[in-house]
Amino acid sequence: MSKILHGMAVQTEILSRLKPRIDKLKRPPGLAVVLTGADPASEIYVRTKIKACAELGILSEKITPAETATTEDLVALVEELNRRPDIDGILVQMPLPKHVDTRRVLETVAADKDADGFHPINVGYLVAGKKAPRACTPVGIIELLKFYQIPMAGAHAVVLGRSDIVGKPMALMLLHQNATVTICHSRTVNLPEMCRQADILVAAIGRTGFVTADYIKPGATVVDVGINRVTDGAEAGRFGRSEEFARSGKTLVGDVHPLDMARVAGAYTPVPGGVGPLTIAMLMSNTVELAERHQGAA
Ligand code: NDP
Repeated sequence: MSKILHGMAVQTEILSRLKPRIDKLKRPPGLAVVLTGADPASEIYVRTKIKACAELGILSEKITPAETATTEDLVALVEELNRRPDIDGILVQMPLPKHVDTRRVLETVAADKDADGFHPINVGYLVAGKKAPRACTPVGIIELLKFYQIPMAGAHAVVLGRSDIVGKPMALMLLHQNATVTICHSRTVNLPEMCRQADILVAAIGRTGFVTADYIKPGATVVDVGINRVTDGAEAGRFGRSEEFARSGKTLVGDVHPLDMARVAGAYTPVPGGVGPLTIAMLMSNTVELAERHQGAA
């Protein structure tokens, strides 16, 4: 039977390690969360992040520019947050409205307040293997694999997806753990065959239940990063989620077919309850680390 890799267990451990570090600081860490517009999914993510801050003793400030905010408005806002001494970390919730130059806004966040680890300077530090804020989702996945003692050194890891926030940093982090890494994307030829070579398969493509049994080597560890909302009853049924659908009229499914994953993988992260809690934990971890740096404690 395959093993379920629960993100909450890892989150609890990570947060418990942060608590004493926060208690040692002269003032609580401060995280500014910029939520632009009214994207319902983003609102839920931000609420979860703010709740985690409150439980841990991190001061959070939610700033909610209107959907109509321009690139200039957001750049000015971030510049002001960069100057504030009580703010250690800045998170600009994605996605930004289509008319906004996302890259420019993200690059305005000071590298030493970059709670999400997206700034090119911090990406450069990641490439060089130096200490710096890391992209939360992939670094959380590394923590999960360590927690469950999944061997990475020498393993063949296949990362499906090459986004700047998940796929690319994930590949680099696995490489730093001495895995042999293959990155696949929408132009990869023979995708199932490539993925089937993986001892560790990380799926981050944003396609509901796309990865089926023929992509998974029997016994492999599968990390499902995808979060896709299913609102069609027949589709929910195909993924074995009829009961949940009947209760709430919707269900969340990852990028991997949940029934196939449970049947073929040796170990896997469920959706929900796998990778999601780790992203939150590592955001807290990055914020604490930045606060320590600002207060001369690191
Ligand atoms: P992006 O849309 O930025 O990137 C998707 C990547 O997947 C691209 O590299 C794309 O390839 C590749 N891709 C898309 N379709 C296919 C296909 N049919 N075959 C092969 N490759 C494909 O997504 P993100 O990385 O931001 O997010 C991925 C998923 O992870 C989403 O479901 C998102 O909601 C979820 N997510 C979950 C988080 C969590 O905390 N659990 C955090 C962040 C994201 P190409 O580059 O060639 O276009």
